[in-house]
Amino acid sequence: MNAPVNGSSVRAGLPLNVDRLRQDFPLLSQTVHGKPLVYLDNAATTQKPRSVIECEARYYAEMNANVHRGVHTLSQRATDAFEAARDTVQRFVNAARREEIVFVRGTTEAINLVAASYGQRFRPGDEILITEMEHHSNIVPWQLLCERSGAVLRVAPIDDTGALRVDAFERLLGPATRLVAVTQLSNALGTINSLPELIALAHAAGAVVLVDGAQAVAHLPVDVQALDCDFYAFSGHKLYGPTGIGVLYGKAALLDAMPPYQGGGDMIREVTFAKTSYNDLPYKFEAGTPHIAGAIALAAAIDYVAGVGLPAIAAHEQALLAYATEQAAGVAGLRLIGTARDKASILSFTVDGVHPHDVGTILDSEGVAVRTGHHCAMPVMARFGVPATVRASFALYNTVDEVDALLRAVHRAQEVFG
Ligand SMILES: *Cc1c(COP(=O)(O)O)cnc(C)c1O
Repeated sequence: MNAPVNGSSVRAGLPLNVDRLRQDFPLLSQTVHGKPLVYLDNAATTQKPRSVIECEARYYAEMNANVHRGVHTLSQRATDAFEAARDTVQRFVNAARREEIVFVRGTTEAINLVAASYGQRFRPGDEILITEMEHHSNIVPWQLLCERSGAVLRVAPIDDTGALRVDAFERLLGPATRLVAVTQLSNALGTINSLPELIALAHAAGAVVLVDGAQAVAHLPVDVQALDCDFYAFSGHKLYGPTGIGVLYGKAALLDAMPPYQGGGDMIREVTFAKTSYNDLPYKFEAGTPHIAGAIALAAAIDYVAGVGLPAIAAHEQALLAYATEQAAGVAGLRLIGTARDKASILSFTVDGVHPHDVGTILDSEGVAVRTGHHCAMPVMARFGVPATVRASFALYNTVDEVDALLRAVHRAQEVFG
């Protein structure tokens, strides 16, 4: 990595006008324990720009009605806005068709939907291949499916840098592999997986591929057609949008052939006690009243991100990560967990002699918000022989000064506990 040496040269080279962008995020201007808030827990959830907050409020103030049901004007307006949000998501991930965009609660629900519905036909001996760096949301639904179906879970290992061992991944693929589920960007390590390569290998073995895009969508441009993934899952709240809304993308031919996930209103065409027929895509998978305001505000978040530009956001975050990585390397006793060549936005580390939770507490007292713990990736912690890490994760509004504040606070924790 070609990390610049000092903060001011990094600052000068940043592609975004962060001072201006920060004004879009009302929450960021507060103080915590008398110190300016330094919010570095973006991998858990990002803060929301005013346009998103106002969009959701405006929906309830001006447009609230149920969708797809009423002929009255409000219901039609709400339906139009909800369906326009689907078009926005379709363009954002470059899906071929709008029916391929299913609104769900988030990444977790999207993966559970695929496990429950696509997995319904899995039989004893079928194999599901995941990786050692997956989030629990991309492990446990497959374990549950294996318990139900008799399928077998295989796990491709990572190396000491936190990169996937593609040779081992390839060896684990075989005629029994029905599905590969892999993250695009690891929330615990920051590793970016080489999806084109993994997807090509999986397809050559006859498996379908689900991509966990929960981290990736806020940091990398995503094109599901170019990737040729079969399913892609993400959450609104890590993309500057609301909680409780997310997306499952699925290729239409696959979604069409899949049985419904949940039964209820909106997902049916005709209900009699003898037999019920199901609605077309995507409504077959959207039982019940959806998070209408959430979907519309998610579209506002996507518009915001598109306005700033994902390539510029990525370049900004890469510069911060390179600077933080270099500064961290100069701190005695600080061990980075996750040093893969292809990384984004995440600095995970331990500090010798200080438990990660104690580091987190001192950081909080300095106004610095980071995540400490296993990051819903306990197998990653086991792989590196640590109970937990401290994780700083960057977003478009973070600054070089905030990286400096993080490292000052780490020094402080070393003083207090050293
Ligand atoms: C956050 C996260 C999830 C789960 O997302 P939810 O919004 O909690 O459903 C899954 N995978 C990764 C990589 C994540 O970072």
